[in-house]
Amino acid sequence: MRDLLIYNSLSNKKEIFEPIKEGYVGMYVCGPTVYSNVHLGNVRTFMSFDMIYRYFLHLGYKVRYVRNITDAGHLTDDSEEDKISTKARLEKLEPMEIVQKYTTDFHQILQKFNFLSPSIEPTATGHIIEQIEAIKTILKNGLAYEVNGSVYFDVLKYNETEHYGILSKRNIEDAIENTRALDGQSDKRNPQDFALWKKAEPEHIQRWNSPWGVGFPGWHLECTVMSTKYLGEVFDIHGGGMDLKFPHHECEIAQAQACNHQAPVRYWMHGNMLTMNGKKMSKSTGNNILPEEIFTGDNDNITKGYAPSVARFFMMQAHYRSVLDFSNDAIMASEKGHNRLMEALVVLESLKAEATSTLDVSAWKEKCYAAMSDDFNTPVLIAHLFEAVKWINLLKEGRESLMAQDLKLLLETLSVFVFDVLGLENTQESDDGSKKLDALVRILIDMRNEARENRDWALSDKIRDQLLAMGIQLKDGKEGTMYSIH
Ligand code: AMP
Ligand code: ZN
Repeated sequence: MRDLLIYNSLSNKKEIFEPIKEGYVGMYVCGPTVYSNVHLGNVRTFMSFDMIYRYFLHLGYKVRYVRNITDAGHLTDDSEEDKISTKARLEKLEPMEIVQKYTTDFHQILQKFNFLSPSIEPTATGHIIEQIEAIKTILKNGLAYEVNGSVYFDVLKYNETEHYGILSKRNIEDAIENTRALDGQSDKRNPQDFALWKKAEPEHIQRWNSPWGVGFPGWHLECTVMSTKYLGEVFDIHGGGMDLKFPHHECEIAQAQACNHQAPVRYWMHGNMLTMNGKKMSKSTGNNILPEEIFTGDNDNITKGYAPSVARFFMMQAHYRSVLDFSNDAIMASEKGHNRLMEALVVLESLKAEATSTLDVSAWKEKCYAAMSDDFNTPVLIAHLFEAVKWINLLKEGRESLMAQDLKLLLETLSVFVFDVLGLENTQESDDGSKKLDALVRILIDMRNEARENRDWALSDKIRDQLLAMGIQLKDGKEGTMYSIH
């Protein structure tokens, strides 16, 4: 089998992938914190790992893919509050109602984008006992301390024998220089220390008994506990978004070292960010677009809706380690490319075999594998797929020819990469319906414009209001009337 190169964030180099157990891959990816709807940025990171998972499966590996659900203890920095409890108070729901609501949303969204399910999807609340056990071990090993019902990881002590910052390439001296002194409110000995267990104040709703009193686990711990429980003390791949490298993944390494005296992960992989208007998409700043808004077109940053497979293709056109900026123009261009690819596949199925082959399909297939085996280079793969699209058009026009076995190989390979590896779906059929709907709405928009020109306000309002009642909202702007479907 050809070598598979993976960019390891630990060494900052591409390395040949050597699994711990031949033929098997253990992969852990940090999942969502289920306190709000996932935005398209979150989807991008999970989609990158879905593509990576798909490629491993395609290569014949047996993959155990673990992606957790953070349903407890995601602390907002040093505040005593965690995100799920805050949201529960705001929405006047039980924390587990928040968790259920947004876990369901997450699953529904991923399904629309044609994600494969992970092998195990463990939750933080389902692993409180394991987290308490891990804290006991870290305390026993002298790398944590208890203060006033909370337990903190002792970063300075750990750094005496290990390197805290090994992944994010920081050193503790810089970190100390760059952090504010403790304000006297905190129980921590040093600002770098992080919580393993937090005492729950009376108003804190998510709470469990522990040897240190009633409290809840710190966010970083769940991933250490769940990854090593299901994949072993050392496992192949750990993934997540670039923004999790520090402190989250750094803390994971420290905790696992403190428990098991060895580095937990062979290959650290980080996906880059999706931006919009040049800024990171994020829940907290509001600079984001929700998947549902992409599908319906109901967002000021887009002029119409796009099929999930088109959004998927848009993301796959960038390498997972590159920043990708979302814009209406960019996704509109992706839609054209996506549809050309799907149309070519339909044409390919109808092509007739000839007596000779004028194109080297085997060499082309090799190039596709070489792209994917070079750190999952989907943009280069897609460039090769478009070379095939060009061929298909030439074959259709009779300017090139392929024998039956080459025609079959071209169809098989193209299908494998388009559907199995990139996870795209042929939306032509539903596209047909949506094209007709689009044409109908445009006729009504024209009729409304005519009515307005004739000052027939009753008719123009009727058209607008009746469309709205059906969930089709008209928006009058500089570029004419746009619409979104809800
Ligand atoms: P969270 O629910 O905030 O813990 O985030 C879930 C995942 O989404 C993490 O792996 C983040 O790194 C990732 N993520 C957050 N924002 C973005 C973004 N703008 N682009 C890509 N990934 C993101
Ligand atoms: Zn994590």
